[in-house]
Amino acid sequence: MSQYKYIKVPAGDKITTVPGQGLQVPDRPIIAFIEGDGIGPDIWRASQYVFDSAIKHCYGAKREIAWMEIYAGEKANGIAGTYLPDETLEAVRDYRIAIKGPLTTPVGGGFRSLNVAMRQQLDLFACVRPVRHFAGVPSPVKNPEKIDMVIYRENTEDVYAGYELKEGTPEAKKLIEFLDREYGWKIAGDSGVGIKPISKTGSKRLIRAALNYAIKNKRKSVTFVHKGNIQKYTEGAFNKWGYELVKEEFSDVAVGWDDCAGNPGDKILVKDAIADIFLQQILTRPDEFDVIATMNLNGDYISDALAAQVGGIGIAPGANINYETGAAVFEATHGTAPKYANLDKVNPSSVILSGVMMFEYLGWQEVADAITRGMIKSIEKKRVTYDFHRQMDGATLLKCSEFGREIVDNFLTA
Ligand code: NAD
Repeated sequence: MSQYKYIKVPAGDKITTVPGQGLQVPDRPIIAFIEGDGIGPDIWRASQYVFDSAIKHCYGAKREIAWMEIYAGEKANGIAGTYLPDETLEAVRDYRIAIKGPLTTPVGGGFRSLNVAMRQQLDLFACVRPVRHFAGVPSPVKNPEKIDMVIYRENTEDVYAGYELKEGTPEAKKLIEFLDREYGWKIAGDSGVGIKPISKTGSKRLIRAALNYAIKNKRKSVTFVHKGNIQKYTEGAFNKWGYELVKEEFSDVAVGWDDCAGNPGDKILVKDAIADIFLQQILTRPDEFDVIATMNLNGDYISDALAAQVGGIGIAPGANINYETGAAVFEATHGTAPKYANLDKVNPSSVILSGVMMFEYLGWQEVADAITRGMIKSIEKKRVTYDFHRQMDGATLLKCSEFGREIVDNFLTA
């Protein structure tokens, strides 16, 4: 008997974690999916076809995903009368891995954002965004091929913690008075006030994840991006704790800039950059950056700025991961684009590339590689959806579903 009211559990096996050994992935893992609102269903159909075809191509009948639909957003509201049913979060906790399309943020639904709620309630502390260029994708910069970074953004703290008081409320006035009385801080009486918590534990677990990724993927450097020159005890502390962690846990494989005068030998170089200068340097010398570790708000800006540089704002993938429990939600980074819903028109690449990240996380590298090959070839052949088509000379316009089939045809023949 299923413990869920709305979710139907398919035949298959649970992904588990074993302490010290990480994720244990069976040959027929149950993986949860949320198709998403607006353009979500179109994109999900195309993506699922690509995923299943790539698994079959790589492993024949030996491996297969047992897809389990879980509900969030408008579909959940229709079925369960709430945008984020408790059993959806429970299912991700139980089955560990989920992949999702975009979700509408309900206005007045009691959520700031469904995505933020999921990240916080599941404690998915690392938001991971790889940013690379696919040859042929229209880009606003001259050398987009120089960009190959992976952003680790802290997902649970910073101004996203949601501790804000509205201007004029008794609560805001009380806090303003308290701060004046206790600390002598003069804040204008008609201010809204927010709190920016950055903890040592939260910072170190995020930076640890970034360093582990850099080691596993043989990356050259990790850069902490912060505004510590101004926000000394929050962003500055993040930076300080990062260097501390390198010495405490990674001294055999990584070294801070100051401890090697910029010459790390065969170790990973750990350095830092002030956020504003970093935003200049990713334009002027992006090849000097590799893995980035940063806090929530900086990470938000940086992810979108870098995605734009590779022309990938509509195709950028993302993942939200708790490396301690193994729980991970892979997701489209764009929204629900409601005006294109059910037209079979939009680009499904954001979910497809999030799937690539998911297969890498599962250790099914062959599947990740096949899909990436198919995607590279499709773009090279200029057989693309409308968003790329309108910016490319001599391109062939494909529907969302056709683009999925094109990727599959390309990895089958590559
Ligand atoms: P959006 O990303 O949905 O759309 C903006 C524009 O980007 C679209 O009009 C379209 O031109 C283009 N676009 C987006 N995805 C595309 C794709 N796959 N292929 C081709 N073109 C694409 O942003 P919005 O209009 O600001 O937000 C709409 C809704 O989405 C809101 O309810 C918002 O809260 C939600 N949203 C959800 C997520 C998420 O679930 N991760 C992220 C952002 C916004």
